[in-house]
Amino acid sequence: MKERERTVVGRFAPTPSGRMHLGNVFAALMAWASARSQGGEMVLRMEDLDTQRTSREFAEILRQDLSWLGLDYDRETAPQSQRSEVYTRYFEKLRRLDLLYPCYCTRSQLHGVNAPHLSDGTYVYPGTCRHLTEEQRNSMNRTPSWRVIVPDKTWEITDLCQGDYRLNLFSECGDMVVRRADGVYVYQLAVTVDDGEAGVTEVVRGMDLLSSAPRQMYLQELLGFNHPTYAHVPMLLAPDGRRLSKRDKDLDLGELRKHVSPEMLIGTLAHSAGIIDQPVSLSARELAQEFSWEKVRGESIYLDAAALTGG
Ligand code: GLU
Repeated sequence: MKERERTVVGRFAPTPSGRMHLGNVFAALMAWASARSQGGEMVLRMEDLDTQRTSREFAEILRQDLSWLGLDYDRETAPQSQRSEVYTRYFEKLRRLDLLYPCYCTRSQLHGVNAPHLSDGTYVYPGTCRHLTEEQRNSMNRTPSWRVIVPDKTWEITDLCQGDYRLNLFSECGDMVVRRADGVYVYQLAVTVDDGEAGVTEVVRGMDLLSSAPRQMYLQELLGFNHPTYAHVPMLLAPDGRRLSKRDKDLDLGELRKHVSPEMLIGTLAHSAGIIDQPVSLSARELAQEFSWEKVRGESIYLDAAALTGG
C-alpha cells in the first residue's frame, strides 16, 4: 500500500504589536500560497509573549488585515501569553533530561567587551554558569534565567528559499536561554512547542529568523516533535538598500489599504519576488496557482514601495 502523504500544515505567527508592514505581508503571502498550493491547511497563532508591546486590539486588526488580503486559515490556536503552563511542562521535560542549568550572568556580563561576538553582532554564550557548584549557586543573590545545554553538532537545513544552511549551536550560539529570570519563556521554546503541538509541517517566515531554525530543530529533537520544512523568505529593501520595517509607518497596512487594492499589493509583491513576469493585479487564490518555490528569489528584494502609495 502506498504510504499516505502527510497533509501540509503551514502557519501565520504574527506578533500583534502593530499593523503588518510590507515585510510581514510578504512572509504571510508566501506561507499561505505555499500551503494552499499543496492543498494544505493554515493555522494562525498570535505571538504575544511580550505582553507590554502586544495587544488584543492589534490581534483583531491583524485578523482583519489577513482577511482583507484574502488569506484565510483553518484554525487559530491559543495565543502564547495564555500557554505558560504548557511551556512549563516542556521545560520540566528538559530538566528531567538533565539539560538545564540556572544562569546568573548579568546583561553587562553577557554583552560586555570580553564577550565573544560573532560577525553578525550576536554573541556566543561561553558557558560561564554551566559548571557552578551547588554552593556557588546558593550564594548567588539573584533569580536565575535557565539555559539548555547544546551539543557540539552542526545542523544542516535545506531551506526551500535559501538553499543549504548550516549552524553549529555550540560554537556559534552557545547554551540557549529557555526561561528568563522573570519566568517568561523565550520565543525559541514557545515556537517549538506551539508549532509542534499544532502539527505544523512547513515554517515560512522572514530571512532574519534563519539562524533560529537550527535552535528550534534542536529543541524539537529534545521535546519529541518532527522537524518541519523551512523556507526563509528574503527581506524587502527600499531602493536605497534600507530595510523596510515597522518604523516605516507609511508602509504599514493601515496606510497602504487607503491607496491600493489587495490584488494590486499581491501582484506587486509577487512580481518583485520573481513569481510573475509582469506586475499585474493578482488575488491570493491566483497567487497560489502561480506559486512554486523554484520561482521565489532568495536574495533581498528591492521595492519602490512609495510608488504604491503614490508618493
Ligand atoms: N512572531 C514572529 C514575527 O512576527 C515570527 C516568528 C516565526 O515565524 O517563527 O516576526
